[in-house]
Amino acid sequence: MITPNLIKRTDRNIIIKDNNIILNDNGTLPSFEKLLELKAQYPASHCIAERENAFSALELPDEAEVSGTKEIAFREYFFTHSEEDSYTAARAKTLLTWTKKMNFCPKCGSTLAYCKEESAKECPECSVQYFPKIEPCIIVLVKKEDKVLLVRHSYRNQDIFACIAGFIEAGESAEHAVYREVKEEVGITVRNIQYKGSQSWPFPDQLMLAYTADYDSGEFSLQKEEIAEAGWFSKENIPASPKPGSVAYRLIHNLF
Ligand SMILES: [Zn+2]
Repeated sequence: MITPNLIKRTDRNIIIKDNNIILNDNGTLPSFEKLLELKAQYPASHCIAERENAFSALELPDEAEVSGTKEIAFREYFFTHSEEDSYTAARAKTLLTWTKKMNFCPKCGSTLAYCKEESAKECPECSVQYFPKIEPCIIVLVKKEDKVLLVRHSYRNQDIFACIAGFIEAGESAEHAVYREVKEEVGITVRNIQYKGSQSWPFPDQLMLAYTADYDSGEFSLQKEEIAEAGWFSKENIPASPKPGSVAYRLIHNLF
């Protein structure tokens, strides 16, 4: 269950600031005392704990200054720490965001309470339980002979080339979303859509489902609001692209 009260643990204190995680200089998670100290220093920061996964988590305001520690991007944390550590950090990040946003019953407007048995919230009026929300997304590496399709976005991360990605829409299968996103964003069709793996991407709450697909037909016709540039790149000629720790990196560098 999730509680707004912290649990004393020595090794699972997740302190988050923006899209970064706060660590000791040696790369370990900060002490429970450090977490309490920061909570006292920034009383408006949001905190939760989850008994099943034995962590306490604190989200600091962006302007917080934390001494005696270092701050690294979540992406880098995922790359440098174990799968279990990454899971706990990703879960803490998603739950912090969700518990902060999800305060009222969507059906009747009453204030929600934390459930006693589940990591969820419930409405005292309608007794409906609400579970932390995740947004399923697809990400796809399209292949054409020995080259791969990479795109530069128009509005985000404009300095790197990435894979095509997007939210799965209501009623779609993930494969349907792969086909539609590629067609919409660059105008080509794909076939042989293959599932490769998944990754939690808690910015704020995505689950990335990674696929490869083969080029089938069509010429580039870019959706200008989304895509500034698209191209086929050989393995030896990959431009600046997503860093290790992301599912995009694993797709591009054939690490699945
Ligand atoms: Zn209600």
